[in-house]
Amino acid sequence: MSVIVYVDSFSGSIAKNGFEAVNYASKLGDVIAVTAGNASDDVLAALGKYGAKKVLKDTSVTSNDPQQLTRLIAKAVEANGATTVVVSHDLNGKAIAPRLSARLKAGLVAGAISLPDGDKVKVNVFSGKAFGFVTVKSDKKIISLLPNSMKPVAEGSDCAVEAFDGEAGNTGYIIKATKKPEGAIPLPEAELVVSGGRGLKGPENWGIIEDLANVLGAATACSRPVADIGWRPHHEHVGQTGVAIRPNLYIAAGISGAIQHLAGVNGSKVIVVINTDPEAPFFKAADYGIVGDAFEVLPRLTEAVKKFKASN
Ligand SMILES: Cc1cc2nc3c(=O)[nH]c(=O)nc-3n(C[C@H](O)[C@H](O)[C@H](O)COP(=O)(O)OP(=O)(O)OC[C@H]3O[C@@H](n4cnc5c(N)ncnc54)[C@H](O)[C@@H]3O)c2cc1C
Repeated sequence: MSVIVYVDSFSGSIAKNGFEAVNYASKLGDVIAVTAGNASDDVLAALGKYGAKKVLKDTSVTSNDPQQLTRLIAKAVEANGATTVVVSHDLNGKAIAPRLSARLKAGLVAGAISLPDGDKVKVNVFSGKAFGFVTVKSDKKIISLLPNSMKPVAEGSDCAVEAFDGEAGNTGYIIKATKKPEGAIPLPEAELVVSGGRGLKGPENWGIIEDLANVLGAATACSRPVADIGWRPHHEHVGQTGVAIRPNLYIAAGISGAIQHLAGVNGSKVIVVINTDPEAPFFKAADYGIVGDAFEVLPRLTEAVKKFKASN
């Protein structure tokens, strides 16, 4: 059985999410990865290591237009007689999956966190506060996989990359400018994140967040008010109205843990909270909590990590 997996490669490389989706789908059938843009064949062939049998590349689609990408994926489904489509539950996947569901008349499991058990697929609900099971009865199904739900494992070898005409049509968008977030580690893909809130008192104090992030090799993030008042750029704002992340480690300093903040971070594997207020709601969601002043605790953590790294 063929499984179509859409993999974003517009940046010229493949993000971890793409390898995850392919690796997940390889447990369901023979994976045909579909991509658009001009990433090199060498880059795309690496999807074979994660279970893709081949990659179909449509160079006529040059931007993240979900309508074009929906038509491209639907064409690949039709051309290969596939019954399952897997996409990553990232910004692109969230725009594509419902459109594809309507187009293919296929049931959609949004935000899957495990492999299907028969017709049933486990998902996160209530912003990760509970689990649910979605049963899909339609002949075709679409699964969007929550990023960081499974670790992609490279086992195979490179696969073939073939040109494909997905008959995607014209784009409905005019892209006037593209602004890429600065910073070495893109937040949505970061395994480790150090985040600051209003408790940091001002943008001039972010050095202690950045120092810890640098020594850990982590990305930096912030609460929404911090971005709203311009202390930090908006692409660092995590939560219900910002970026949703699922890193292995989330360190939150001077953040109260409002429900809207938790909605974007409570899928993190380990949460460490630093707050002067022992009653701060974030402690209820924390794996480790430090009741203390971020201005004292963060530099000490940075020193401790430096010492640990130096001795190993
Ligand atoms: C519709 C809607 C959507 C929203 N979406 C988001 C969202 O996506 N993301 C988001 O973050 N928020 C969101 N919010 C806002 C959210 O409700 C909170 O107001 C916000 O998360 C609070 O930010 P904060 O924790 O940085 O600030 P505060 O609530 O002011 O908390 C600061 C914390 O720092 C602690 N503190 C103070 N000094 C120190 C110190 N020296 N050391 C350590 N700790 C200290 C305090 O005890 C306190 O707990 C949304 C709100 C609404 C209504």
